[in-house]
Amino acid sequence: MDADVIVVGAGLAGLVAAAELTERGRSVVLVDQEPEQNLGGQAFWSFGGIFLVDSPEQRRMGVRDSRELALQDWFGTAAFDRDTDEWPRRWAEAYVDFAAGEKRAWLRERGVGFFPIVGWAERGGYDATGHGNSVPRFHVTWGTGPAVVAPFERRVRAAAESGRLALRFRHRVDEIVTDGGTVTGVRGAVLEPSDAPRGAATSRVAVGEFELSGQAVVVSSGGIGGNHDLVRSAWPDSLGTPRTRC
Ligand SMILES: Cc1cc2nc3c(=O)[nH]c(=O)nc-3n(C[C@H](O)[C@H](O)[C@H](O)COP(=O)(O)OP(=O)(O)OC[C@H]3O[C@@H](n4cnc5c(N)ncnc54)[C@H](O)[C@@H]3O)c2cc1C
Repeated sequence: MDADVIVVGAGLAGLVAAAELTERGRSVVLVDQEPEQNLGGQAFWSFGGIFLVDSPEQRRMGVRDSRELALQDWFGTAAFDRDTDEWPRRWAEAYVDFAAGEKRAWLRERGVGFFPIVGWAERGGYDATGHGNSVPRFHVTWGTGPAVVAPFERRVRAAAESGRLALRFRHRVDEIVTDGGTVTGVRGAVLEPSDAPRGAATSRVAVGEFELSGQAVVVSSGGIGGNHDLVRSAWPDSLGTPRTRC
């Protein structure tokens, strides 16, 4: 095996997964189709607004929030109405628990700081019966997106220096490899090198092929606006059509 875990995509989700895995003693190969200068993906460009529920910043501003209200807002937005929405529903519950629980302390421990004024993004219908956040929950980070990426990039680079993690840029995963129904790795194309600046389009000219095997594969190839084809390629039929709700 090439590593315990193959992480596909070196955006914020991939960086966080890789950092957490290596700090728990796992070996990781972190693969991304873009060149190194794009490390951090969309999060580098983002405003860095973080969803927290019932935070000290909200309370200081007089915003009354709770896990129950946040969950009601989420369900009002997602409108889960199919049997196959079971996992998205469970994920929503777990995420709201995190946002109302350890998330703020977890981020602060890792060096992410918060601006004392909470914004009101994705407001939706302004009340708690429809879609959107019925109260302000958009916690802006000091330094915005780049400052959210930085602590996780530092940890990933430290893991690379210590030999627990290998970075593979310009490696595009085209397929998730399975053996008897078990995921065993990934396969794809090595793309030609690119010195395009961060955010600029890069070529898709393949100059080789690669295959990596691991005990587990984490697909973090982007959420909304990200690479859905890769997710679809390994999506079990039993879960119905993958759907993103925003
Ligand atoms: C301008 C802007 C502002 C935003 N502001 C906010 C905000 O304030 N608050 C907030 O919560 N969110 C915000 N977002 C959204 C947030 O930044 C993204 O949801 C988040 O960064 C996504 O992270 P990710 O790691 O899941 O995906 P991405 O950052 O998209 O990373 C996916 C990575 O996977 C790689 N990849 C894709 N396919 C393959 C493949 N087949 N093989 C190998 N690699 C592959 C890509 O090259 C990329 O590096 C904003 C986004 C933008 C663009």
